[in-house]
Amino acid sequence: MLPRTLFASEHEDFRETCRRFIAESVMPKHEEWEARQYVDREVWQQAGEMGLLCLTIPEEYGGLGADRLYSTVLIEELTKAGASGIGWPVHSDIVAPYMQNYGTQAQKQHWLPQLAAGTCIGSIGMTEPGTGSDLQAIKTRAVEEGDDYIINGSKIFITNGYLTDMCIVACKIGEEDKGAGSVTLIIVEADREGFSKAKPLKKVGLHAQDTCELFFKDVRVPKSNVLGGEAGIGKGFTMLMMELAWERMIIAIMAQATAQAALDSTIDYVKQRKAFGKPVAAFQNTRFKLAEMKTEIGVGQSFVDECLKRVVDGQLSVEAAAAAKMWSSDMVSRVVDECVQLHGGYGYMLEYPVAKAYIDSRAMRIFGGTNEIMKELISRSL
Ligand SMILES: Cc1cc2nc3c(=O)[nH]c(=O)nc-3n(C[C@H](O)[C@H](O)[C@H](O)COP(=O)(O)OP(=O)(O)OC[C@H]3O[C@@H](n4cnc5c(N)ncnc54)[C@H](O)[C@@H]3O)c2cc1C
Repeated sequence: MLPRTLFASEHEDFRETCRRFIAESVMPKHEEWEARQYVDREVWQQAGEMGLLCLTIPEEYGGLGADRLYSTVLIEELTKAGASGIGWPVHSDIVAPYMQNYGTQAQKQHWLPQLAAGTCIGSIGMTEPGTGSDLQAIKTRAVEEGDDYIINGSKIFITNGYLTDMCIVACKIGEEDKGAGSVTLIIVEADREGFSKAKPLKKVGLHAQDTCELFFKDVRVPKSNVLGGEAGIGKGFTMLMMELAWERMIIAIMAQATAQAALDSTIDYVKQRKAFGKPVAAFQNTRFKLAEMKTEIGVGQSFVDECLKRVVDGQLSVEAAAAAKMWSSDMVSRVVDECVQLHGGYGYMLEYPVAKAYIDSRAMRIFGGTNEIMKELISRSL
C-alpha cells in the first residue's frame, strides 16, 4: 500500500537468488515431503552450498556476515512460496545466533561452520509436555557427575526435531530448583546415548515440518557442552529472553508474507471465477473484503518494517516485537479466513495455496510465545 523502503538493491538481488532456489530445489518436492512429514537432508546441504543458511553469522564461521534484512528476504520468499516445511529460520536465525552470541570460542568454531554448511541441522528445545508458556517451570534436569552432566527429561513440539543433529536444550541445572536462575542451555548432540526422537507429530498444518518430541534418558554430556561454558550456568533464561524479540519478528515477517500471498492469489482467483454471469471480483462484497484486507496488510507491514529497521539498529524493544508478532499473526488469521471464503469450495481444497496458508498460519498465534503471553509482555510497559 505504501512503498516499502526497507531493502537496498543488494537485498532485492538476493531475493531473486532465493526465489530461484526455492522454485527449483524446494517446491518440486514439497508435496512429497508433506506426505512423509519431513524434508530431504539434501536440500539443507544444497542451501548451505548456495550460502542460504546462517546468513547473519560472520564469514570466519562460514556465514555471510549479512544483516537481518537478508534473513527477512529469505523468510518472506519461503513463506510466499508455501515452503512451510523448511526449518531454516529456526536453524539459521535462532539456533546459530544463540551459538554466535553466547557460545564459547570452541563451541562457535565447532558448530557454526557445520550449521552454515547444512551438514548439521539445529533445533532449540524449550517447550515440554507439561509446560510451554511458563518456561521457568521446565522439568528437564541436568545433574553434575564428575566432568559431565546427566540429562533427564523431554521436549515437545520441537521444530526440526526429527532431523536434528544438535539441539540446544533448556535444562534446570543441579538438584536445587532456583526457578529462572537454574535454567541453563546445553548443547546435546543427537547421537548421544539416551537421546531419542519420536516420529514427527501429525499437525493441523506445516505438514512437511518435522516437529517432534525429544526424549533424554540419562544422557551424558561433558560440562563443555553448556552454552557459554561455565559462565553460561544459570544464564539460560536471560539468553532466551534476549533472543525472543527477534524470534517474534520472524513470525511477524511470516504472517505478513502469508497474508500478502493469500491476498494476491485470491485477487487472481476472484477475477477469473464467475457466479451469476459475472466475475466474483465484481460483487461489492468481494471488492470491500479485498479492500479491507489490503488495508490491514499494509498497516501491519508498515509497523513490521519499522520494527525491522530497529532490529538492524539493535534498538527493538520487547513490547514492539511482541506487538508485531501478536497483531500480524492475528491479522493473517482474519485474512486467510476471508480468502478461503472468497474461493468458495475450492478454498477448502489443499491444492489451492489459500487452503495451505489457512492451515499453516494458525500456529503463528501459538508458537514463539502465545498471543496471550504477548499481551502480558506489552502490558508490562504500560
Ligand atoms: C508448530 C509448532 C512449532 C513449535 N516449535 C517449537 C520449537 O522449535 N521449540 C520449542 O521449544 N517450542 C516450540 N513450540 C512450542 C510453542 O512455543 C508452545 O506451544 C507455546 O509456547 C505455548 O505453550 P503450550 O503449548 O505449553 O501452551 P500453554 O502454555 O499450556 O498454554 C495454553 C493456553 O493458556 C494460555 N496461557 C498460558 N499462560 C497464560 C497467562 N499467563 N495468561 C494468559 N493466558 C495464558 C496460552 O496463551 C494458551 O492459550 C512449537 C509449537 C508449535 C505448534
